[in-house]
Amino acid sequence: MSAYRVGKGDTLRSARVSPSKRRRTRRVRIGPISIGGSAVIAVQSMTKTPPSDVRATVRQIRALERAGCELVRLAVPDESAAAVLPEIRGRTGLPLIADIHFDYRLALAAIKAGFDKVRINPGNIGASWKVKEIIRAAAGSGAAIRVGVNAGSLNKKVLKKYGSPSAKAMVESLEKSLELFEQLGFKSLVLSAKTTNGPDTIAVNQRLSQRYRYPIHLGLTEAGLPFEGAIRSAATLGVLLQQGIGDTIRISLTGDPKLEVEAAYELLGTLNLRKRGPVVYSCPTCGRTQIDVARLARQVKLALKKPAIRNSSIATRYFTVAVMGCVVNGPGEAREADYGIAGGKGKGAIFVHGKVVKTCSEKRLVAALLEEIVKENPKSKAQSSNRSGV
Ligand code: SF4
Repeated sequence: MSAYRVGKGDTLRSARVSPSKRRRTRRVRIGPISIGGSAVIAVQSMTKTPPSDVRATVRQIRALERAGCELVRLAVPDESAAAVLPEIRGRTGLPLIADIHFDYRLALAAIKAGFDKVRINPGNIGASWKVKEIIRAAAGSGAAIRVGVNAGSLNKKVLKKYGSPSAKAMVESLEKSLELFEQLGFKSLVLSAKTTNGPDTIAVNQRLSQRYRYPIHLGLTEAGLPFEGAIRSAATLGVLLQQGIGDTIRISLTGDPKLEVEAAYELLGTLNLRKRGPVVYSCPTCGRTQIDVARLARQVKLALKKPAIRNSSIATRYFTVAVMGCVVNGPGEAREADYGIAGGKGKGAIFVHGKVVKTCSEKRLVAALLEEIVKENPKSKAQSSNRSGV
């Protein structure tokens, strides 16, 4: 179904998903930002602290914000969590989403607290009147609602009809959930359909995008530890994004949520859908390498995240840095990047926009590279918004 497939005569370059080729969805406001329509694909993550620990939760939200997260979701498991939502709301300007299961009153409390969106699975909220209460409250406050369906929580009748949670069954189940929203004319909706399996998640989201114009939240559930989870998510979400499907993404990882944000930008950057912050490339090393490329690349990456850099214009400016191991391919590749290091034996050359500006010892290389980058990027206050990506 993709119009963006590499066909006869196409170059890989022309297979990029330009913003104009993204599937056009309805624009939905989530507090100060929008998702869908012509908005860039928004990056979201979830806090992993108990919400009742307000201090830890706010600290994690701020860390996510510094990492570039644009929407933060919080699980609201019970009344004690609901009770602290106004305080959390008051301590951050980031768009907040409440993740609600079973108890409609928790969703009402989140909306009353000023949360910008609630995520519900109408199937586990129960009676229709409870779902309607949530819809009316959201409509009254301008909050959006994400309606999700997971392979494990299908409408019972639909599951009986199809016998398994196929893509068709999942979309039909979601369709039933959306009836109440349509009856009440509520359109600030975001849809999601997730499974733990790549091909199934691709198939169900392709169907969703054919059927609806609401923005789609992409994610793979229970993706795993950071290494495996990032690969599984990228393989799945990458296919959909390349087909122009998806308006907001979360890379679910077992671990620090900042990694989810980092992985999301790496994925969007690889597909040229967003450009944010410095991107570090490095060669894989081989028998020609006479310099510690892995250490240098790690040091460059860490140096670009240090507070002095993080609070400057460099933090969100897009540029590329190449760390290359040798004089055979190194200089050529480093020249392609905005900044680069090409290693030799115990020393290396620093490149700035394709020109060698100095050579120095291996020990001095990272500091010298940083000096060149900072020289070209005078410090300024951190940019409050990074939504200027492609
Ligand atoms: S850049 Fe040089 S050292 Fe690195 S992989 Fe290529 S040939 Fe090997």
